Amino acid sequence: MALFKPMDNIDESNEKPVPEGKMEKTRCLIIGSGPAGYTAAIYASRANLNPIVYQGLEPGGQLTTTTEVENFPGYPEGITGPEMMEDFRKQAERIGADIRFGMATSADFSAKPYKVVIDGNKTVEADTVIIATGATAKYLGLESEQKYRGQGVSACATCDGFFYRGKDVAVVGGGDTAAEEATYLAGICKKVYLIIRKDYMRASKAMQARVDRTENLKVLYEHVTKEVLGDDSGVNGVLLQNNKENKEVKIDVDGFFVAIGHKPNSDIFKEFIEMDETGYINTIPGTSKTNVEGVFACGDVQDNHYRQAITAAGSGCMAALDAEKYLGEQE
Ligand code: NDP
Repeated sequence: MALFKPMDNIDESNEKPVPEGKMEKTRCLIIGSGPAGYTAAIYASRANLNPIVYQGLEPGGQLTTTTEVENFPGYPEGITGPEMMEDFRKQAERIGADIRFGMATSADFSAKPYKVVIDGNKTVEADTVIIATGATAKYLGLESEQKYRGQGVSACATCDGFFYRGKDVAVVGGGDTAAEEATYLAGICKKVYLIIRKDYMRASKAMQARVDRTENLKVLYEHVTKEVLGDDSGVNGVLLQNNKENKEVKIDVDGFFVAIGHKPNSDIFKEFIEMDETGYINTIPGTSKTNVEGVFACGDVQDNHYRQAITAAGSGCMAALDAEKYLGEQE
């Protein structure tokens, strides 16, 4: 997730931190490399905006942590998330996008051209900025959960499930992600517990049916995670509160997968860009325009409803078209 890192040297003209190092100018800066960022890059390149794309911490975005994608049109046999994002990247690059490693660490939209700091040590000045920074997995916030991150606690079954082959694991969450991760893990692990705090699952009916069909998957409704248990070698159990029977229960598991939703990666834009209370960027309905002219948002950072690769890609297209139109009006 992007973090704001204040720098020591201050530009006295606007009292904003300006890092040392190279300053570069572009007509179109795209921040993020999921379906939204890459699609924006494809359209912006074809419109001769010569976009620069900074990929962020997770090049390819959240889809690189998925296995099979079956619902993106154009892949009749399905495709894995990482392969699909590699296709997006290659297509954007072939058309001319300048795609780079690097993460936006702060932004200043108080005056034009807008300034975005990359990796805390380089500033890009941009006539238009397309924010496509996506969202990041949420954690429960337990101390023990943080303690065992990377030692049995994970937010990505498809990344880490392999390590739990033949073992017992737990997944927390009742949405589509949790149901998908639990069924995926059931194909690898001996037994999977799905921990749901309510007495029902929020996941789609189709996903619930898959959960129900999976024999080695046990759903624990009305259970709340109190503690992740472990020792020097990592996680060895989870302490739960069974709210239905009002008692504590301990389950023995080697892995604990958190699948409780996401937080939009918008922190560094907070000072300038209007967002809702959870940090999703507000765009003018039917457009990708933010409250700052010339700054556009697309993909999961501005969508807390659909959150699909195809809708993210569509909104990336909108952002590039909006940026092109804006630049045309300025010139
Ligand atoms: P959701 O927000 O839909 O679900 C989050 C789940 O986590 C809910 O069950 C919620 O419980 C639970 N939760 C949240 N906080 C806590 C907590 N502190 N302790 C315990 N449980 C908690 O997120 P998803 O990531 O599942 O899905 C996001 C979107 O992506 C959805 O629109 C979904 O449909 C879509 N999606 C689609 C897929 C597909 O079509 N293949 C695959 C994956 C996602 P509660 O219900 O009690 O609030």
